[in-house]
Amino acid sequence: MVQAEERKGMTTTTRLRSPALAGRSPYPPEEGRGLWVWLEQHDGVLEGVGRELLGKGRMLADALGVPLAAVLLGNRQHLAGLVEEALSLGADEVLLGMDPLLSRYTTEPYTAAMDQLVRAERPAILLLGATYDGRDLAGRLAVRLYTGLTADCTDLSIEPETGLLVGRVAGFGGGIEALIKCPVHRPQMATVRPGVFASPATSHQRPQAAVREIAIQLGAADRRVHVLERVVHEGIDLTRAPAVVVGGGGLRGDFHLIEDLATLIDAEVGATRVAVDQGWAPRERQIGQTGTMVRPRLAIACGVSGASQFTVGIDAAEMVIAINTDAEAPIFDVADYAVVDDLFKVLPPLLAELRQAERGAV
Ligand SMILES: Cc1cc2nc3c(=O)[nH]c(=O)nc-3n(C[C@H](O)[C@H](O)[C@H](O)COP(=O)(O)OP(=O)(O)OC[C@H]3O[C@@H](n4cnc5c(N)ncnc54)[C@H](O)[C@@H]3O)c2cc1C
Repeated sequence: MVQAEERKGMTTTTRLRSPALAGRSPYPPEEGRGLWVWLEQHDGVLEGVGRELLGKGRMLADALGVPLAAVLLGNRQHLAGLVEEALSLGADEVLLGMDPLLSRYTTEPYTAAMDQLVRAERPAILLLGATYDGRDLAGRLAVRLYTGLTADCTDLSIEPETGLLVGRVAGFGGGIEALIKCPVHRPQMATVRPGVFASPATSHQRPQAAVREIAIQLGAADRRVHVLERVVHEGIDLTRAPAVVVGGGGLRGDFHLIEDLATLIDAEVGATRVAVDQGWAPRERQIGQTGTMVRPRLAIACGVSGASQFTVGIDAAEMVIAINTDAEAPIFDVADYAVVDDLFKVLPPLLAELRQAERGAV
């Protein structure tokens, strides 16, 4: 289904083509209208990535000159409290799909509900967060709609000549960047991980903003899974950390050094995949292509080589300081301040200075 079309250096443009399935698409491309963002919610609380996608969706919708809709699925009680918040995030329209079967996320009812909304309203573009549930829903839905899905985009744009959505993804282990578009099938679907885009400021309510409930029909056949209990792991959210100290292979397991630094400067600890694979840090602290995308004001990379699969995760950091013994390490290509030295010589006196300053401040 995906065919390489053009090669420009390290960038490959790919197009989704499936003529055999084109006739099974729910509507032709020219009938797709508007840009939708699915706002994932649990128990009446929005997932942050929905806000981030609405911010980006606003820019894309404005570039296309089409309306931006926020789509909420859930039960009546949960959604009632979210309409105002969705309106304040800059959508032109809030579309509601309500049913008691949507009280908790499960694949089948959510797929059936979104499938019905899409077929009824015919959006040109549908964006979802690449959360556990967003990935689950997007994949199932794309198959049901016979359309293409560009998963885990690191950026989204509109192709000026065609008005097509272009999703940028890291392909083949990060060795190439692929620009993927879906010219024939609708809706054009993409998922984006939390932290890739910034959250928009709230209180952007559009003067003509409207709220509409779309009728959906769900029955017993749509409910094959019964959720008995939902246990939420209280993990850390690196996407919201104002500062991150990242440890890599150069730390040789001495994570206490960067834990102390993180505590002193009020930062979170992050890790490269090498550090995680070695068992020095838990998986939830991994930053990068297969970890978390962070956007802190400050990132300090200690003993990190700067592989592209890592640096994609700190692209949005305002300032990067890197400590590495190797002056040729690629981390210095993305660093604002470079410390070419042994971190075991640099960090202990820095920690001593910071502790001294902290004592002086008490
Ligand atoms: C599909 C795919 C997905 C991936 N996803 C991710 C991802 O999400 N996140 C990620 O991090 N990686 C990811 N990787 C792995 C990535 O390619 C690199 O292997 C990894 O980022 C390297 O980690 P590192 O820089 O900590 O370790 P190393 O490559 O071992 O580098 C250690 C660095 O520390 C420096 N150093 C050594 N000793 C010292 C010292 N005493 N003082 C200062 N500096 C020192 C060295 O000069 C070196 O540059 C992925 C790979 C693939 C194929």
